[in-house]
Amino acid sequence: MTNEIKHGMQIFDVVIVGGGPAGSTCAACCALAGLHTLVLERERFPREKVCGDCLNPSCWPVLKRLGLAQQVRDLPHSKLTSVDFIAIDGRKVSVDLPTGDPPGAGEISVKRSIFDDLLLKRACELGAYVREQTTLTGLAHDQDWKLETATRESFRARVLIGADGRNSTVARLRNLLPRPARERVALQAHIPLPRNFGERIVLQFLREGYSGQAPVNESELNLCLVGRPPTISRLRQWAQRHFEIPTNQPWRTITPLTRSAVPCARENLLFIGDAARVVEPFTGEGIYYALRSGELAAGAIRKIIGGEDRLSALHEFARDFAKMYRGRLWINRLARDAVLLPRIGSFFVRAAQLNPLILKLLTAKIVSAKL
Ligand SMILES: Cc1cc2nc3c(=O)[nH]c(=O)nc-3n(C[C@H](O)[C@H](O)[C@H](O)COP(=O)(O)OP(=O)(O)OC[C@H]3O[C@@H](n4cnc5c(N)ncnc54)[C@H](O)[C@@H]3O)c2cc1C
Repeated sequence: MTNEIKHGMQIFDVVIVGGGPAGSTCAACCALAGLHTLVLERERFPREKVCGDCLNPSCWPVLKRLGLAQQVRDLPHSKLTSVDFIAIDGRKVSVDLPTGDPPGAGEISVKRSIFDDLLLKRACELGAYVREQTTLTGLAHDQDWKLETATRESFRARVLIGADGRNSTVARLRNLLPRPARERVALQAHIPLPRNFGERIVLQFLREGYSGQAPVNESELNLCLVGRPPTISRLRQWAQRHFEIPTNQPWRTITPLTRSAVPCARENLLFIGDAARVVEPFTGEGIYYALRSGELAAGAIRKIIGGEDRLSALHEFARDFAKMYRGRLWINRLARDAVLLPRIGSFFVRAAQLNPLILKLLTAKIVSAKL
């Protein structure tokens, strides 16, 4: 990325740790508002990420406001028109996804390497400074925030944003990161697209956990496996047999899949995206929450730096952040129960064979357009 920083120790209005969808969106909006903005990102982009790669239709309005909706449509991607729920015994229920209003605003899947890269480049284009391969390792707070990196550089910030994902270093360094209990683990890979796979997402319950599958372009399938540490290798063996994957196939991995939320606003420190709250991957909504919370945080930062009342700006952000999830967390809990006990998930699928209305309503609720 361009926009070279000239003096390491200069003070930024805002430093954002993490250049995923939450951090990039926040950075783009802050830079657009004329704020002196820096993103610190551990990886070098483009990079892949453990994800199902599905973009919920709610993402479109945010992408439009970022001036990126058409550019995302121009990326290699796959249109998704239905979800197949498959029970442990192989029984299947298919639910159509909304085609999108306006047309082209439905659910799609796109590789995170190219999607995240586009977002981070947009932040850069709008004037944010971006430091890749720069890992936050230390944090101190006096009047401002002082950040130290693994490469022994220091930066100062008036406002700090934790956008560094579910294992947030910012939260850990502030002693805010909840300890996950015995948790599940996810594996993910891009494999050759099976012939005639179609424009569908497959959510398949298996004895050991579940698998999510979606085409991401004309030749690749995103394959996710979610299980517990003792059973995950059996899930991988199932996938190797089912999709004829060679045993040397590289897999990306991540844990935990669930943890408690971190308070999203305190002092001049805000958390956004997965760093603030992790949702059940099964529902495929995490990217939307990342984009939208990035936008909301930028609004609060603008007010704080502009000299408006800090406490009310933080309060407003916390209120809007909570509103974003209102009426939706029960679906997450339901999805979590279904995937923690695949037999219950399978029971749902069998019941839906008799009466598909409930599954249709739940799916419509998840993929309905939000703000
Ligand atoms: C198995 C699985 C499937 C999923 N499927 C979907 C799906 O289909 N659709 C969907 O919408 N969501 C899905 N999600 C959720 C989605 O991946 C996340 O919600 C989303 O990535 C959150 O974005 P973010 O920007 O908050 O964090 P991230 O995307 O995790 O980005 C955080 C960034 O911070 C950087 N970072 C971390 N630590 C540091 C540090 N110390 N210093 C500097 N940088 C750092 C990382 O390199 C990373 O680039 C899935 C999740 C899982 C686990």
